[in-house]
Amino acid sequence: MTTRRNRCTHLLAIASAVLGIALCVDAGYVHAKAWLAQVLLERAWARTLVDGGTHAPWPWADAAPVARLIVPRLAVTRIVLGGDDGRALAFAPGWSGSTALPGEIGLGYDKERDKVVLFVKEILTEEDDPENAAVIRFWATRAQMRQLARWGVEVVSRGRPICPQCGQPEEPEGHFCPKKNGHLH
Ligand SMILES: [Zn+2]
Repeated sequence: MTTRRNRCTHLLAIASAVLGIALCVDAGYVHAKAWLAQVLLERAWARTLVDGGTHAPWPWADAAPVARLIVPRLAVTRIVLGGDDGRALAFAPGWSGSTALPGEIGLGYDKERDKVVLFVKEILTEEDDPENAAVIRFWATRAQMRQLARWGVEVVSRGRPICPQCGQPEEPEGHFCPKKNGHLH
Protein backbone atom coordinates (compact mmCIF):
# COMPACT_ATOMS: atom_id res chain seq x y z
CA MET A 1 0.00 0.00 0.00
CA THR A 2 2.73 2.39 1.03
CA THR A 3 4.86 1.57 -2.00
CA ARG A 4 1.90 2.17 -4.30
CA ARG A 5 1.23 5.57 -2.71
CA ASN A 6 4.92 6.37 -2.94
CA ARG A 7 4.92 5.44 -6.60
CA CYS A 8 1.88 7.64 -7.16
CA THR A 9 3.55 10.60 -5.45
CA HIS A 10 6.66 9.91 -7.46
CA LEU A 11 4.74 9.91 -10.76
CA LEU A 12 2.90 13.09 -9.76
CA ALA A 13 6.20 14.79 -8.99
CA ILE A 14 7.63 13.78 -12.35
CA ALA A 15 4.48 14.92 -14.16
CA SER A 16 4.63 18.32 -12.35
CA ALA A 17 8.29 18.69 -13.25
CA VAL A 18 7.62 17.89 -16.92
CA LEU A 19 4.68 20.32 -17.02
CA GLY A 20 6.81 23.00 -15.32
CA ILE A 21 9.62 22.57 -17.84
CA ALA A 22 7.13 22.60 -20.73
CA LEU A 23 5.57 25.87 -19.48
CA CYS A 24 9.01 27.45 -19.08
CA VAL A 25 10.00 26.40 -22.61
CA ASP A 26 6.69 27.71 -23.97
CA ALA A 27 7.09 31.08 -22.21
CA GLY A 28 10.69 31.26 -23.40
CA TYR A 29 9.56 30.48 -26.94
CA VAL A 30 7.02 33.37 -26.89
CA HIS A 31 9.71 35.79 -25.70
CA ALA A 32 12.26 34.47 -28.19
CA LYS A 33 9.72 34.81 -31.03
CA ALA A 34 8.90 38.41 -30.04
CA TRP A 35 12.59 39.29 -29.84
CA LEU A 36 13.39 37.62 -33.16
CA ALA A 37 10.43 39.39 -34.84
CA GLN A 38 11.82 42.79 -33.77
CA VAL A 39 15.28 41.90 -35.12
CA LEU A 40 13.77 40.83 -38.46
CA LEU A 41 11.56 43.98 -38.61
CA GLU A 42 14.64 46.15 -38.05
CA ARG A 43 16.52 44.29 -40.82
CA ALA A 44 13.62 44.66 -43.28
CA TRP A 45 13.31 48.39 -42.49
CA ALA A 46 17.06 48.85 -42.96
CA ARG A 47 16.76 47.29 -46.44
CA THR A 48 13.82 49.61 -47.25
CA LEU A 49 15.91 52.63 -46.25
CA VAL A 50 18.65 51.50 -48.63
CA ASP A 51 16.60 50.77 -51.78
CA GLY A 52 13.18 52.32 -51.03
CA GLY A 53 11.47 49.01 -51.75
CA THR A 54 9.07 46.95 -49.69
CA HIS A 55 10.65 44.07 -47.82
CA ALA A 56 8.75 41.41 -45.89
CA PRO A 57 10.43 40.83 -42.52
CA TRP A 58 10.08 37.05 -42.99
CA PRO A 59 8.99 35.08 -46.08
CA TRP A 60 5.41 34.33 -44.90
CA ALA A 61 4.79 37.81 -43.38
CA ASP A 62 1.58 39.58 -44.48
CA ALA A 63 2.88 43.11 -43.85
CA ALA A 64 6.11 45.00 -44.42
CA PRO A 65 7.62 47.94 -42.52
CA VAL A 66 6.54 51.37 -43.81
CA ALA A 67 7.91 53.71 -41.15
CA ARG A 68 9.71 54.07 -37.88
CA LEU A 69 7.94 55.69 -34.95
CA ILE A 70 10.18 57.52 -32.48
CA VAL A 71 9.09 59.08 -29.19
CA PRO A 72 12.30 60.57 -27.75
CA ARG A 73 10.68 61.66 -24.48
CA LEU A 74 9.74 58.05 -23.68
CA ALA A 75 12.84 56.54 -25.34
CA VAL A 76 10.51 54.45 -27.51
CA THR A 77 11.25 53.44 -31.07
CA ARG A 78 9.02 51.08 -33.05
CA ILE A 79 8.89 49.83 -36.62
CA VAL A 80 5.44 50.51 -38.13
CA LEU A 81 3.93 47.85 -40.39
CA GLY A 82 1.75 48.61 -43.41
CA GLY A 83 -1.71 47.37 -42.45
CA ASP A 84 -3.78 47.32 -39.31
CA ASP A 85 -5.17 43.80 -39.11
CA GLY A 86 -4.51 41.50 -36.18
CA ARG A 87 -1.63 39.69 -37.88
CA ALA A 88 0.31 42.94 -38.32
CA LEU A 89 -0.62 44.38 -34.93
CA ALA A 90 0.62 41.23 -33.18
CA PHE A 91 4.17 42.29 -34.01
CA ALA A 92 4.18 46.08 -34.38
CA PRO A 93 1.99 49.19 -34.61
CA GLY A 94 0.24 49.31 -37.99
CA TRP A 95 -0.52 52.06 -40.46
CA SER A 96 -4.11 51.99 -41.76
CA GLY A 97 -4.06 52.22 -45.57
CA SER A 98 -7.24 54.35 -45.65
CA THR A 99 -5.59 57.19 -43.71
CA ALA A 100 -3.14 59.85 -44.91
CA LEU A 101 0.51 58.84 -44.86
CA PRO A 102 2.57 60.78 -42.36
CA GLY A 103 4.34 63.66 -44.07
CA GLU A 104 1.58 64.37 -46.62
CA ILE A 105 0.32 67.31 -44.58
CA GLY A 106 2.79 69.31 -42.55
CA LEU A 107 2.97 72.48 -40.55
CA GLY A 108 6.19 74.42 -40.12
CA TYR A 109 7.60 77.77 -39.08
CA ASP A 110 10.22 79.68 -41.02
CA LYS A 111 12.20 81.64 -38.45
CA GLU A 112 13.93 83.95 -40.96
CA ARG A 113 10.73 84.96 -42.72
CA ASP A 114 8.73 84.82 -39.46
CA LYS A 115 6.02 82.94 -41.29
CA VAL A 116 4.03 79.80 -40.71
CA VAL A 117 3.89 77.33 -43.58
CA LEU A 118 1.36 74.62 -44.19
CA PHE A 119 2.37 72.18 -46.90
CA VAL A 120 0.11 69.64 -48.51
CA LYS A 121 1.32 66.87 -50.76
CA GLU A 122 -0.87 65.42 -53.50
CA ILE A 123 -2.34 61.99 -52.80
CA LEU A 124 -1.20 59.55 -55.46
CA THR A 125 -2.32 56.07 -56.43
CA GLU A 126 0.07 53.21 -55.81
CA GLU A 127 1.25 53.10 -59.44
CA ASP A 128 2.34 56.76 -59.44
CA ASP A 129 5.87 57.77 -58.61
CA PRO A 130 5.84 59.60 -55.25
CA GLU A 131 8.58 61.87 -56.63
CA ASN A 132 6.01 63.38 -59.01
CA ALA A 133 3.57 64.38 -56.26
CA ALA A 134 2.58 68.05 -56.45
CA VAL A 135 3.19 70.07 -53.30
CA ILE A 136 1.29 73.20 -52.30
CA ARG A 137 2.65 75.54 -49.65
CA PHE A 138 0.49 78.06 -47.82
CA TRP A 139 2.44 80.86 -46.19
CA ALA A 140 0.87 82.94 -43.45
CA THR A 141 1.97 85.51 -40.90
CA ARG A 142 1.48 84.77 -37.21
CA ALA A 143 -1.31 87.40 -37.10
CA GLN A 144 -3.10 85.62 -39.95
CA MET A 145 -2.78 82.28 -38.18
CA ARG A 146 -4.19 83.80 -34.98
CA GLN A 147 -7.14 85.13 -36.97
CA LEU A 148 -7.61 81.75 -38.61
CA ALA A 149 -7.64 80.03 -35.21
CA ARG A 150 -10.24 82.52 -33.89
CA TRP A 151 -12.31 82.03 -37.03
CA GLY A 152 -12.18 78.26 -36.52
CA VAL A 153 -13.40 78.57 -32.94
CA GLU A 154 -16.23 80.82 -34.10
CA VAL A 155 -17.30 78.45 -36.89
CA VAL A 156 -17.31 75.53 -34.45
CA SER A 157 -19.40 77.50 -31.95
CA ARG A 158 -21.97 78.21 -34.68
CA GLY A 159 -22.67 74.50 -34.97
CA ARG A 160 -25.95 72.85 -34.06
CA PRO A 161 -26.74 72.49 -30.36
CA ILE A 162 -25.86 69.17 -28.77
CA CYS A 163 -28.72 67.08 -27.35
CA PRO A 164 -28.14 66.58 -23.63
CA GLN A 165 -29.88 63.17 -23.78
CA CYS A 166 -27.82 61.40 -26.46
CA GLY A 167 -24.91 63.78 -27.12
CA GLN A 168 -25.68 64.06 -30.85
CA PRO A 169 -26.24 67.35 -32.73
CA GLU A 170 -29.88 68.44 -32.95
CA GLU A 171 -31.34 68.87 -36.45
CA PRO A 172 -33.06 72.25 -37.13
CA GLU A 173 -36.32 70.49 -38.08
CA GLY A 174 -36.44 68.57 -34.80
CA HIS A 175 -34.35 65.89 -33.21
CA PHE A 176 -34.96 62.14 -33.46
CA CYS A 177 -33.42 61.21 -30.18
CA PRO A 178 -32.38 57.56 -29.96
CA LYS A 179 -32.57 57.87 -26.17
CA LYS A 180 -36.26 58.76 -26.47
CA ASN A 181 -37.07 56.08 -29.04
CA GLY A 182 -36.87 58.59 -31.90
CA HIS A 183 -39.51 61.04 -30.66
CA LEU A 184 -39.15 64.61 -31.90
CA HIS A 185 -38.46 67.21 -29.24
ZN1 LIG B 1 -30.91 63.20 -28.47
